Amino acid sequence: MQNETPAHESSCTDRNEFGTLRADEALQRIVAAVKPVTGYEQVPLPDALGRVFHAAVVSPIDVPAHTNSAVDGYAINADDLPASGRTAELRITGTILAGKPSGVRLPTSQTLRIMTGAPLPEGADTVLMQEHVERQGDVIRVGGRHKRGENVRKAGEDMQTGEAVLNAGKLCTPADIGVLASLGLCEVKVRRRPRVALFSTGDEIHDIGELRPKSGIFDSNRYTLTAALGRLGIEVRDLGIIPDDKTALLEALSRAAHHSDAIITTGGVSVGEADYIKAVLAQTGSVQFWKVAIKPGRPIAFGRVHGITFFGLPGNPVAVMVTFYRFVLPALEKIMGITEKTLAPTLTAISTGRIRKKAGRTEIQRGILYRSEQSLWQVRTTGKQGSGILRSMSLANAFIILPDECGTVEPGDPVTVQPFAGLM
Ligand code: AMP
Ligand code: MG
Repeated sequence: MQNETPAHESSCTDRNEFGTLRADEALQRIVAAVKPVTGYEQVPLPDALGRVFHAAVVSPIDVPAHTNSAVDGYAINADDLPASGRTAELRITGTILAGKPSGVRLPTSQTLRIMTGAPLPEGADTVLMQEHVERQGDVIRVGGRHKRGENVRKAGEDMQTGEAVLNAGKLCTPADIGVLASLGLCEVKVRRRPRVALFSTGDEIHDIGELRPKSGIFDSNRYTLTAALGRLGIEVRDLGIIPDDKTALLEALSRAAHHSDAIITTGGVSVGEADYIKAVLAQTGSVQFWKVAIKPGRPIAFGRVHGITFFGLPGNPVAVMVTFYRFVLPALEKIMGITEKTLAPTLTAISTGRIRKKAGRTEIQRGILYRSEQSLWQVRTTGKQGSGILRSMSLANAFIILPDECGTVEPGDPVTVQPFAGLM
């Protein structure tokens, strides 16, 4: 669905083919080369969660609609408050309940009992909490330590008529659903969901539910990716498992490109004898094969197939997940139209163990982040870090991000950690 020319269309002659691309440069190139989907749809409010606002939402009303009481208490005019150290007595001349028609006037130097949310009567500017006054019959005794305007919620103090309260490009959260509901809006315009076509490659790969020969392995990549894409609200077109066969791959890529906004494949991008993705893609043009200075995940392919954004991820399950979150997710967020994102922050934690690391490449280890008894963030790796050890991802609650320039980490060294919460 996208026919733009990639930022670096140089196909297999890319200058980096025999060199290695820094991870941050790969990310930059990928994000620069994709464009947001342009279509949108109007959805009922409950369906907007996790979708991206197509346009700014402008408030049609004031919220709150009228100036009202924030507590159960007594509406007064602050002119009737006594000087500090003194007390005053005010007669109660009526009660105002929430949801009842307003238009009541506060008689001079008297008070009206008022409930939380009830409109403030004309002539009143302050509400005294009922716990802060002494009541005897229909008279309250008031001390001098009150401020004009206390416990009053002003009309429009949350949102004002004509104010842009949600920005285009914001991912809709439960709070935003509440904001829209408080504006009385039943529907909202959101970007069209991107469609991503997905397949696994490899003669040894078998789907769950199939008979698996001893030499075979079950396909996990398609399931992790489908789950990760589903969380993003992306429509997944599952094209199954494609054997290591040029004709089958070519045919699958053509199908994948049809009616999709992006294609993701796993496996076959390395330099093994059955890694055909490269040869097949050479025929369609604008795909670059990168050796990215990242572990796990060194070989990845990126570009376009029949004009559609293409990500050829490695085969190893951990490499798939790491390259997905590092390179594909930021691109997908842009394709989804997200410009204002909920944070997936990183923090600095103390490594409790030694982590062997080569300088000159980014290493993403799987970590368990926790608070020490002294309330310090500490992190340890999940153990074996091989790119095929998917349990390391499942055990982890954070990535330990070791940048290019960093060498071996010693116990007690600070490291950058990215918690999975907010990321996946
Ligand atoms: P490849 O890059 O195709 O050589 O694959 C690298 C490794 O990842 C091999 O050991 C594959 O068996 C494994 N692998 C490839 N695809 C999958 C998959 N879909 N699920 C689980 N493992 C895979
Ligand atoms: Mg393979």
